[in-house]
Amino acid sequence: MNRIFNFSAGPCTLPYSALEEAHAEFLDYQGKGMSLIEMSHRSKEYDAVHMEAMDLVRRLYGLPDNYKVLFLGGGATLQFAMVPMNLMAPGQSCDFTLTGAWAKKAYADAKKIGEVNVVFDGKDDSFMSLPDPASLQANPSAAYFHMTSNETIGGVQWKDFPDTGDVPLVCDMSSDFVSRKIPVEKFGLIYAGAQKNAGPAGASIVIIREDLLARSSDNLPAYLSYATHAPKDSMYNTPPVFPIYMMMKTLQWLEKEGGLEAATRMANERAGLIYGAMAANADFYKCPVQESARSNMNIVWRLPSEDLEKQFVAEALDAGMSGLKGHRSVGGCRASVYNAMPVAGAKALADFMGEFAQKNG
Ligand SMILES: *Cc1c(COP(=O)(O)O)cnc(C)c1O
Repeated sequence: MNRIFNFSAGPCTLPYSALEEAHAEFLDYQGKGMSLIEMSHRSKEYDAVHMEAMDLVRRLYGLPDNYKVLFLGGGATLQFAMVPMNLMAPGQSCDFTLTGAWAKKAYADAKKIGEVNVVFDGKDDSFMSLPDPASLQANPSAAYFHMTSNETIGGVQWKDFPDTGDVPLVCDMSSDFVSRKIPVEKFGLIYAGAQKNAGPAGASIVIIREDLLARSSDNLPAYLSYATHAPKDSMYNTPPVFPIYMMMKTLQWLEKEGGLEAATRMANERAGLIYGAMAANADFYKCPVQESARSNMNIVWRLPSEDLEKQFVAEALDAGMSGLKGHRSVGGCRASVYNAMPVAGAKALADFMGEFAQKNG
């Protein structure tokens, strides 16, 4: 098999070892005569998978005891609604940073639940830069302060997080989850869809500080309440067993690679190679994002014309690199270089960018 370098933004490339292990175990899980995905989610085999996946999130982030890990369905998108439904009481407001397409989606849902104060709006700079976190101030009465750590479409990433005092900091980390070390104790709640760094689509991860569970109203429908899932370790109903199993395999791989320290180092290496190829051919490739806000996960750039961009994407595919077309809403090119993208993949892309610029510049 000729495995290509897959730069897709999500679902995305996964560690080959995780795929191989799942392949080998798929038909007959641990000699039980059936697949894991045919077993009861109450079986001891599945329970071990579920708890190990949760524990891996804990170990990788070094979570303090007063944080709970939840696995839910509905993607990160369901969290756009669950966060305000659970954390914001009637009559309360929350604070939002508008940094791009995903923050705006989260904001649109929060506005349906309560009042939202916009603390930062990047629209004057077309969402191509980020403010200094120290310049941001949470409203003392806000139920929480929401941010999006990495904008998957725009290609901006916060390098630091604001200090919001007693106002819980809530963060959508979908596209840079487990990709770097973060000061977890700064956050009240972190959420992420699994399919960008942690596994396949179908599961999302919520890390919630336990005191916030008291905010979930008894009037919420059961599934929509964090307080339903937390005491049951996300086994209140049938969890998405196959995505969680693949998440376990993916996170086991990451732990073996060296955890978040290794993830940070590899992300810096991959991004350095690709931004470096742009800098070396600066007349040809233009990154629209302000240098200090450039993402290590989703790297965006333009070529001199849309025709050249099309040609670039097509020739890259012939050379064994897929998924380089920019998001349909913004055009251009985008390389998503999540944890499982080998540094060799970023090197191959950087080399290709150099050659393409030489030939067509
Ligand atoms: C992909 C993505 C989402 C949406 O995730 P789903 O799991 O598809 O609902 C939300 N936020 C960010 C930052 C994303 O990259």
